[in-house]
Amino acid sequence: MTLANLLGQAGLRVMLVERDAGTSNEPRAVSFDDESLRTLQLCGLTCDAYDLILQGTGTKYFGMNGRPLAYARGPAHPPLGHPIKNPFSQPKFEQMLLRGLKRFASVEVCLSTELTGLILDERSGAQATLRQADETDRHVKARFVVGCDGGGSTVRTILGIAMDGIGAAVLSAKGNDSLVGKMFPQPTVLRSDGSRLHLDDVLGQGYALLAVAPPRHAFRPPTDQIWTALGPRLVELVLDDRAPRAGGDEVEVVADIDGGLARLLDPYRGQVLLIRPDRFVAGVLSLDLDGAADEVRRALRLPETRANGAQVDRGISTDVELVASQGAVPGES
Ligand SMILES: Cc1cc2nc3c(=O)[nH]c(=O)nc-3n(C[C@H](O)[C@H](O)[C@H](O)COP(=O)(O)OP(=O)(O)OC[C@H]3O[C@@H](n4cnc5c(N)ncnc54)[C@H](O)[C@@H]3O)c2cc1C
Repeated sequence: MTLANLLGQAGLRVMLVERDAGTSNEPRAVSFDDESLRTLQLCGLTCDAYDLILQGTGTKYFGMNGRPLAYARGPAHPPLGHPIKNPFSQPKFEQMLLRGLKRFASVEVCLSTELTGLILDERSGAQATLRQADETDRHVKARFVVGCDGGGSTVRTILGIAMDGIGAAVLSAKGNDSLVGKMFPQPTVLRSDGSRLHLDDVLGQGYALLAVAPPRHAFRPPTDQIWTALGPRLVELVLDDRAPRAGGDEVEVVADIDGGLARLLDPYRGQVLLIRPDRFVAGVLSLDLDGAADEVRRALRLPETRANGAQVDRGISTDVELVASQGAVPGES
């Protein structure tokens, strides 16, 4: 449902398919974190989410005899712009997500509907069979199917995709200071006109190129065509607490008034961070290298066949036309 909210917010046609008749009454999660709140911010659901959580109070764990075992909570100044460990009621949270979907005429929610068959064809897309509440089958076509259908995923099973564990990768990433693959912090920033806002309000809804120097120079061959196609916002971050100069039409210049990013971004001077719409860092681009275009393609996972950059279009990473969340399927047959 979160993904459907994100895609609905982006104006895309989505069909959400859920086997159950409604949202769950059984909580599994007891709290969610600042990354999740940042994602809900992108869904336009920040206020609704804050109404449901105990902000940053953390979770206390007690033993059988009532003895406190652990108190898990985050730092006083959370880097992503939201409190870190937030107890909540999962059933109410799911209802909030479902209500959120009603904002979008382009999102169709199909409850009591089970994905039972799926055929993928490179040219025509996906064809899915959905078993409806009245036991009849509905056949739908979609450009994309996203299987957000849990650990025992039907989508994964039908497609014969093995379940990969990432535990080892996560462990080996510990101690790795690279920003790539991590959600970029969200400080309060200052504009040249003196206004203060969250960094995400500057980055916008799509891709962004962020640098501690004007990122405009990214627009030169061989990467310029890729940028033109992706349409990223260009943001220069000044590591200073004074109001920055105006950046002109194309580049937004903002100052990190909290000063929290100076150390983090120090290794990236002279480079440009490519921020994905979900606010994760897709890549760090050293634009002086001849291979910069390849770096960009790798960061965005663009297909090799589009390697000359000229054929890249928004559809590669941003134009997800239709996605079914739980089990997944779009389009009408
Ligand atoms: C005991 C426990 C405690 C947890 N505590 C926390 C916590 O405190 N914080 C936290 O962040 N996470 C917690 N988690 C993890 C969290 O609950 C899961 O990561 C999360 O629910 C996974 O969400 P999902 O949407 O991927 O899958 P699910 O929540 O499993 O949702 C999948 C959905 O797909 C539907 N579906 C499946 N197959 C089909 C099909 N063929 N057709 C149509 N629909 C289908 C299902 O009905 C279901 O609604 C906890 C998990 C457990 C078990």
